[in-house]
Amino acid sequence: MFEKEYDVIVVGGGHAGAEATAAAANMGSRTLLVTMNLQNIGQMSCNPAMGGIAKGQIVREIDALGGYSGIITDKSAIQFKMLNKSKGPAMWSPRAQNDRMRFAEEWRLALESTPNADFYQEMVSGLLVENNKVVGVRTSLGVDIRAKAVVLTNGTFLNGLIHIGEKQFGGGRAGEKAATGITEQLVDFGFDSGRMKTGTPP
Ligand SMILES: Cc1cc2nc3c(=O)[nH]c(=O)nc-3n(C[C@H](O)[C@H](O)[C@H](O)COP(=O)(O)OP(=O)(O)OC[C@H]3O[C@@H](n4cnc5c(N)ncnc54)[C@H](O)[C@@H]3O)c2cc1C
Repeated sequence: MFEKEYDVIVVGGGHAGAEATAAAANMGSRTLLVTMNLQNIGQMSCNPAMGGIAKGQIVREIDALGGYSGIITDKSAIQFKMLNKSKGPAMWSPRAQNDRMRFAEEWRLALESTPNADFYQEMVSGLLVENNKVVGVRTSLGVDIRAKAVVLTNGTFLNGLIHIGEKQFGGGRAGEKAATGITEQLVDFGFDSGRMKTGTPP
């Protein structure tokens, strides 16, 4: 169930969206997480690992700020390693290998027990804009939900394109469709749009 208006709407229930939902709700904001598939909250996209260069530091910073990523990682960890120990300390990178299903389950349990957080499974296809201000989201089924702030954490899904050999097809991640509508609207607002490649190995 969801209401007609929230303080914060978070679009996308990946690692970033789960953390944004927890942060907003724990700060006392009425928060709605809208994501394409509630079964995939906190899904690990590729290698079931948390951390590595850059992300390892970020997870620790999030932890210091009271976020959940480090706690969820600890609860579902299989192996922990400090990478790059042969190099100088600036290059040391904490990385955990995790149980993919347990990691996603722990995220869902943590969010569902967070007061102020509601959930809705659907694709957000556009932003509601009034007087040059974002005031909510519109879903692909035409449902409008208003909010004081909207956080976009769409990951690899916005007009996502998968390349396998010489074949190409739309998709946000293996087995999941791409999200359409938001990129076009952001470009209309004057944002630049580019494409980054992730490079999942065979
Ligand atoms: C190939 C690959 C390898 C990786 N390896 C590692 C690694 O070894 N270690 C590590 O720590 N990290 C790794 N990562 C990175 C990790 O997967 C990402 O950092 C993390 O998943 C990004 O989280 P996110 O929330 O930004 O996006 P995502 O995980 O992509 O989640 C986005 C979510 O938003 C939803 N969504 C998108 N658009 C909409 C919409 N319009 N409406 C509703 N819902 C929407 C999607 O359904 C999805 O649930 C890897 C990533 C890739 C792609």
